[in-house]
Amino acid sequence: MTQNIGIIGGTFDPIHFGHLHTAWGILEQLSLDQIRFIPCGIATHREAPVASAQQRLDMLECAIQSDDKLIIDRREIERDGPSYMIDTLKSLQADFPDAQLHLILGMDAFSELDTWKDWQALMDYTKLVIVRRMPYQLPVDAKFRAWYGEQEAQGKVIFTQDIPLLEISATQLREALRSGRSPRYLLPEAVLHYITENKLYLR
Ligand code: ATP
Repeated sequence: MTQNIGIIGGTFDPIHFGHLHTAWGILEQLSLDQIRFIPCGIATHREAPVASAQQRLDMLECAIQSDDKLIIDRREIERDGPSYMIDTLKSLQADFPDAQLHLILGMDAFSELDTWKDWQALMDYTKLVIVRRMPYQLPVDAKFRAWYGEQEAQGKVIFTQDIPLLEISATQLREALRSGRSPRYLLPEAVLHYITENKLYLR
């Protein structure tokens, strides 16, 4: 049987319950076999993360230590140069030639998909699973709409419907820490403990 693999790329600076809850909801809803969390090495669409690659990996490990369906994938951090998703998908296809890949994107990431390297070629390797995320709306650009409408009709773009949204962002967590508030209950206790021990996000 074809293995169904979900992929979530991001900075995970830090990982929080928004990521974990969404990943789990999609795993169950789409009957995926596993979800791979792929922290980026060198971010291409935003400023550099605050925590180092090793610290972001450590926090992922604190969050999902013992779950064999949620997997931490180091390939972007171990690869030299900018972390382009198209390269990541090619390398996943080489490792899992018979699997169906599902790239999970929040609406924020999806809205700027057409700025990604070789973005249309992504569909040669994966389906897209789009998670609605406030306050982001579906992109309005007519050409882009026509493109994803066509992909949706072919079952290659899937919009999730009933996974309740947790409105948590890493930006919001970093701001809370910077201003001396605790982001407790928005991320796993073990991740918060790691952040406190390592004095992360204090400025
Ligand atoms: P930042 O606030 O630093 O931009 P973030 O919280 O958006 O970070 P990322 O690591 O950039 O987290 O996100 C990785 C992926 O997870 C993206 O596709 C993003 O849209 C998605 N994502 C992040 N937070 C949520 C959430 N609360 N619910 C659903 N998807 C999310």
